[in-house]
Amino acid sequence: RRIEIKQREKLQLLGEIAAAVAHEIRNPMTVARGFLQLMKGNEAAASRFQEFVPMIMEEMDRAEAVLHDYLTLAKPFERQAEVLDLKEQLTHVVTILSPYAALYEVEIHSNWQIPQLQIHFDRKQWRLVLIHLIKNGIEAMSQGGKLDVELYREGEHAVIRIRDRGVGMHEEELKRLGSLFYSTKAKGTGRGLMICYKIIEDAQGTIHVESVKGKGTLVTLRLPLFLDKLKNGGYI
Ligand code: ADP
Ligand code: MG
Repeated sequence: RRIEIKQREKLQLLGEIAAAVAHEIRNPMTVARGFLQLMKGNEAAASRFQEFVPMIMEEMDRAEAVLHDYLTLAKPFERQAEVLDLKEQLTHVVTILSPYAALYEVEIHSNWQIPQLQIHFDRKQWRLVLIHLIKNGIEAMSQGGKLDVELYREGEHAVIRIRDRGVGMHEEELKRLGSLFYSTKAKGTGRGLMICYKIIEDAQGTIHVESVKGKGTLVTLRLPLFLDKLKNGGYI
């Protein structure tokens, strides 16, 4: 979904973004400062320095992650494209997400019985998109269940389908998907999908979402394949 904003709406949007950044950065700062303040005036608290440090650092890291997200949304974003093997990437992401899936009692079924498929993409951004989309699928299934991840080829495109059997979405909810700050989760940021849309659209790909409330959601990701025409003598 393209983010189209009329000129006169831009200022308002800027204000909203500034408020959101401020809010999200202020929270971890306040917590971190609170720890320091506590230790400064209190001998007993100061002796717990080693115990507090990881918590302070965690808050700092959270603030850093927030800034990183916003910078990903800001243009222009530096991209270091390289040839990536999709099966390899998917396997990696599914592996690192399996403890998270287990937490939700979600079983990830992957299906990519196809020959090698490659894309030309920034590795970090690509992983970020996959992780975000699969995570959303997992988070939609609070009762657990099966989540399918499929990879196949359609002409000159790679297609990845992520199908969950979770809460699903109404038409109205679908429309709001990927807009700024839209989240229905207690700890959600509402930035995940917006970042995914941006990364994928910048790379001439598309994200398509279909959903049935109460049944589940199907996310279809389409990306131009990297076709090594020289190696194949121009034959694809
Ligand atoms: P977040 O996950 O932080 O809430 P996202 O941008 O990833 O932010 O998603 C925004 C919202 O879209 C979610 O809060 C949820 O309501 C809805 N959503 C996204 N993916 C799914 C899904 N697979 N099933 C149901 N709802 C979803
Ligand atoms: Mg999300």
